[in-house]
Amino acid sequence: MPIFIFFVNLQDMREDSLKRLAILGATGSIGMQTLDIVRRYPELYRAEVLSAGSRVDELAALAREFRPSLVVIARRELEGRLRAALEPLGIAVSSGPEALCAAAESPDVDMVVTATVGYSGLEPTVRAIRAGKEIALANKETLVVAGEYIRRLMAENPSARIFPVDSEHSAVAQCLAGEDPDKVRRLIITASGGPFRTWEPARIAQATAADALRHPNWNMGAKITVDSATMLNKAFELIEAHYLFDIPAERIEAVVHPQSIVHSMVEFEDGAIKAQLGVPDMRLPIAYALGRSSRLAGVSEPLSLEKMSNLTFEAPDERKFPCLGFARLSLERRGTTACTVNGANEVAVAAFLQGRIPFGRIYSTIARTLERATFIANPDFADYVASNAESRRLAAEELGIALNN
Ligand code: NAD
Ligand code: MG
Repeated sequence: MPIFIFFVNLQDMREDSLKRLAILGATGSIGMQTLDIVRRYPELYRAEVLSAGSRVDELAALAREFRPSLVVIARRELEGRLRAALEPLGIAVSSGPEALCAAAESPDVDMVVTATVGYSGLEPTVRAIRAGKEIALANKETLVVAGEYIRRLMAENPSARIFPVDSEHSAVAQCLAGEDPDKVRRLIITASGGPFRTWEPARIAQATAADALRHPNWNMGAKITVDSATMLNKAFELIEAHYLFDIPAERIEAVVHPQSIVHSMVEFEDGAIKAQLGVPDMRLPIAYALGRSSRLAGVSEPLSLEKMSNLTFEAPDERKFPCLGFARLSLERRGTTACTVNGANEVAVAAFLQGRIPFGRIYSTIARTLERATFIANPDFADYVASNAESRRLAAEELGIALNN
């Protein structure tokens, strides 16, 4: 069973009542672009809950503008400051991971936008599914860490719906609309290739955070930008596509398309390929997810086809970007494999961003952690929690650093 149901009830699409959103990760790149849509289409969307990890002043400023009924900050020690700023305005404030989960299942919320980064997105998403919510899923790590489990949970909670925000998966969803899923031959997930596409391996190994943060086409949060530079982001997206659309791993491939205009493609049995094109602007896939696979007028700039004389496609180079191999490995071994990859990556990327390790150590830290970590073949939720904690501890040990999250 695919997680994403791509036959949308026309009744759903015509619904024009105000949709109340809980935006988890409101101060981030996806969160702010979601709020831009709320700002532009106030008759369709209301920010009912806003949350952030630690950026308390930015969160308070957003709350003053959007007047949600509840604001949640993940770091408990920041609750007091937020309370002082927002309670005079009649906005409720809560803090901590449990408060985030409670917000995701609140009866006052119709759709949860999971725009937090990394493993922190898993539990609120699980709770939103259990509460039967609609979910605009940006936090791909949820499906990477626990795809098998989320698939089971979705089958047990048929009123819950997941709409992908990731541009590639939104593109696939758009290509699949109106098609027979049994006639799909393969999914072709495009990748920009990141800032190091044309670099030699020895130079890539020594790249700095400033180098890695210079993404050619997209302006995103720091963690996903580094994941794009290692191409682990693409490995994660292959895993994400497998669970969302229920297509076997061997029929999902990545192709490098440096212009980021074709956002992904679907090939069908008859040889036809459908592609979705557009300017690289995340507001388009965000709006498509918020609208439950329907379209809003004027979301992004039109694409000028005359300027598109040079769209190129090439096979990714796994020798330069060995992290790509973690997709195949994860989908072959399954169990807690991808959870371990994700945990080790989060620790290594944080150390890399702090300038403590060279770029090349991200891959080797993940590989080494995988060798040492406990493998659980049929994990339940508690096993993912344990596996994530273990992989972080092992990765930190590997790097000789203290674990601070
Ligand atoms: P970001 O770093 O810009 O923002 C992350 C948000 O999450 C911030 O609001 C932050 O305060 C919050 N946060 C961080 N740690 C938290 C925690 N422990 N608990 C609660 N909240 C926490 O990240 P982003 O680029 O917006 O990415 C968000 C998610 O969307 C990621 O999973 C990413 O892979 C995915 N995504 C992003 C893009 C993009 O264009 N930025 C595209 C596709 C997918
Ligand atoms: Mg993507």
